[in-house]
Order: sequence, then C-alpha cells, then structure tokens
Amino acid sequence: MSNADLLRRSLAAVWHPCTQMKQHAADLPLVPVVRGEGLWLYDADGRRYLDGISSWWVNLFGHCNPRINAALADQLGRLEHVILAGFTHEPVVQLSERLSALTGGALGHCFYASDGASATEIALKMSFHYWQNTGRPEKREFVALAGGYHGETVGALAVTDVAIFRDAYAPLIRAAHVVPSPDARQAAPGETAADVARRAAAALETFLEDHHERIAALIVEPLVQGAAGMAMHDPEYLRLARALCDRFEVHLICDEIAVGCGRSGTFFAHEQAGIKPDFLCLSKGISGGYLPLSVVLTTDRVYEAFYDDATARGFLHSHSYTGNALACRAALATLDLFAEDDVLAKNRARGDKLEALLAPLAAHEKVRHFRRRGMILAFDVEADVGFGRRFYREALARELLLRPMGNTVYFMPPYILGDDDAAFLAAAAAAALEAALR
Ligand SMILES: *Cc1c(COP(=O)(O)O)cnc(C)c1O
Repeated sequence: MSNADLLRRSLAAVWHPCTQMKQHAADLPLVPVVRGEGLWLYDADGRRYLDGISSWWVNLFGHCNPRINAALADQLGRLEHVILAGFTHEPVVQLSERLSALTGGALGHCFYASDGASATEIALKMSFHYWQNTGRPEKREFVALAGGYHGETVGALAVTDVAIFRDAYAPLIRAAHVVPSPDARQAAPGETAADVARRAAAALETFLEDHHERIAALIVEPLVQGAAGMAMHDPEYLRLARALCDRFEVHLICDEIAVGCGRSGTFFAHEQAGIKPDFLCLSKGISGGYLPLSVVLTTDRVYEAFYDDATARGFLHSHSYTGNALACRAALATLDLFAEDDVLAKNRARGDKLEALLAPLAAHEKVRHFRRRGMILAFDVEADVGFGRRFYREALARELLLRPMGNTVYFMPPYILGDDDAAFLAAAAAAALEAALR
C-alpha cells in the first residue's frame, strides 16, 4: 500500500486509540509505517522516524531485533499457543522461574494475562480475594496515589487518577481512595525530594490510621508516575509505604508495567528502595515490545491462601491467551539480551550521555523540572495548552517520534541508543522545542 492509501483506508476503518478522531481531519498527523529496524520506523517512501518513546514504552531492544526474531521463528515451528488451564509448556515455565529469580525468590508465583490493565485487575482481585479467604472480608477497598495510572478497563480506572481518562466513566466506577503523590516537583524552596516523600508518606499514615480495617491494598507506580507526566519521586516513599503497609496489614501492589524491565535503571524499580511488594505487575517491555503479555507475581503467603479443597477459594480468573507461548518466548529472548549484553550497566552510560546532550535544553528559559530516572528523561515547558501538539508535529517533521503529555516532554528510548543516535535525538528535540515555542 502507498502512504496515501494506508492513511485513507486507516482513517476509514481503524478507530485509533487515545485519539479524538476528528483531530486527524485537522492538524493531527497520522503516520504510515511499513517497516521497523532498530531505532527507526519507515514509511513507504523511505521517510523515517527515530522512535524516542519506544512505541508507547514497550520496545526495549529496537524494532525487528534479530535475536528476538530468531527466538520467535524457532518457537513458531514448535508451539504457538496452548490452553494454560490443565496444560503447560516450556516457555511459560522458564519465564516464571526466571522472573521469580529476579525477585530473589520473594515472589515465586506468576499469573499471566495479555495487557497491563488486566494485570492491574488481577492484582486487585487477588488482594480482595486473599482477605476474603483469610477471614477479613471487610478489607475490600483500595488506595491509589494522586495522578496514578494503572490502565483503562473499568476496574483499573478505579485506581487511576487521571481525569481525562476517567471522568466520562465516573458513574461506572467504584473509585479508590486517593492519597497525595510524592511527586518531587512539589518540593518547596529548601526541601529535598526525600522531604516531599516523607510528607506524602505522613498523609498515607494518617489515612491508614483511620481506614486500614477496610483497606485491601495500596497500588503505586514505583519511582515514576508515567501518565501523570513522568512525575518522579524519591525511593524513601516506597520504604515508608512498605513499612506502613506492614504495620496496617495492607497489601502493597507495585505496578511496574512501565518502570519495570530496566527502565528505571535497575531491573525492577522497587529494588532501589530495598523493598519487596506483595504483588508485582509487569507488561509493556516484558516481551521486548513484540507481543501482548502481562504477568502478576506474588508471594507464597498469598498463593497459600487460595490453595484449598474448595474450588471457589481458588483464583478462577482467566484470559484466553494466558501464558501465550510465543509471547513468553519473546520475553525469554528479552531476558537473554539483558543477561548477555550487560544492559543495565550500559544503560547507565547511555542515560548519562543523553542527559549531558540534553543539558542545553534543561537550561532553556522555558524549561522547568528537568529530571531523569534511569532511561526516562523528562522536562516541563512553560507554554500555552497547544504546545504539546505543536511539539509533536515539529518533532515528526525532524524525523523524531516524541509524544508530549500536556506540556511535559519526555524521552524513553530503546536500550540500543548509540552516541550518534542520542546526538540526533537531542538536536531534533531542541529544534522542535524552538519551533513549537514560536
Ligand atoms: C500502560 C500502563 C498500564 C496499562 O497497560 P495496558 O497494556 O495499556 O493496558 C498500567 N499501568 C501503568 C503504570 C502503565 O504505564
């Protein structure tokens, strides 16, 4: 299909996500892609775009990565999918063992689904059901952070505090309690990020003192609240929240759907606080950005509360593609890349390099709160409400895919960004900023 064909037919037949479709008739471009290679996406005329946001935070090792491709080709010749109720297979067993090992064995039981919102739903349902099974049925409410994002199904929206995604559906939703975010941008003059974290934790403590008897779980995005605009916080918050959850008998759910798999600088973000959650949700990067896959890891203690003669005390949740063999194999190939290429260490240098190249942008007179956690870099721009859309267009015109959230520009590149790529990215972003501010 030619570029023009692809665009015309897409607009007629495809209802694109997270989009007011009428904007495509006005000034919102729709980009046709026929091929991907490494950091680059190509259209039918050979026009190219550097994928600066890892295609919605999922791609870790580039498009059409030869090693993941080879693993998938091998898996395709063996087994594409099999029902996971009553059946099992090697990729799902190996993946479960390896993920558990990455938690130091603390979270030894893996439950699978296909997308992040479903992982959130699974963690919420398991926590609720755990308290039922252990004789505490009054613990049935959830606590979430201001600005938190955990997916957009009706259940996940209950713990998502992003008005634009939630408000239209408010009558459908049993909204969770919302406590203050430890977002370090709230620091008053002279305050550190850890001070903000302690203040937010004190608010959580006050809340739990009053309500813990009804609370099943606290759900957090550790270190970086993505959809809130890459709001970053000090690990101190996670340490204090973990201690409060222990004291008040409340589960801690770490939603690492975006920040897991090396994105925060460690393989799991919660490692930086030296804590372990009761539930850990992974998706997005887990399959290298190849196939829909999500997983919830939990502890022996939770698992054992469901292990019983009574069927109804079991966790009967299911999805048709649970534990899909191809997706699990893509995830295994992704974990192999981490191990074989010393990715976390190389990402430290990669992130440092990009941060240094972005220093002039950080010092720009309209730029506020330049921040970084691992392979996530972001800044806010003092500008009118149309800025984000203009920046997006100006970046595309310079062969760069960046997709601001409001007036927050962020970078979440794949872990194959070389020095030249980083220089290209920084220069194109700087030029797009100037153009979008004019
Ligand atoms: C993307 C995301 C989700 C939802 O994942 P989907 O696969 O889009 O349903 C949940 N939580 C966080 C933190 C996310 O970034």
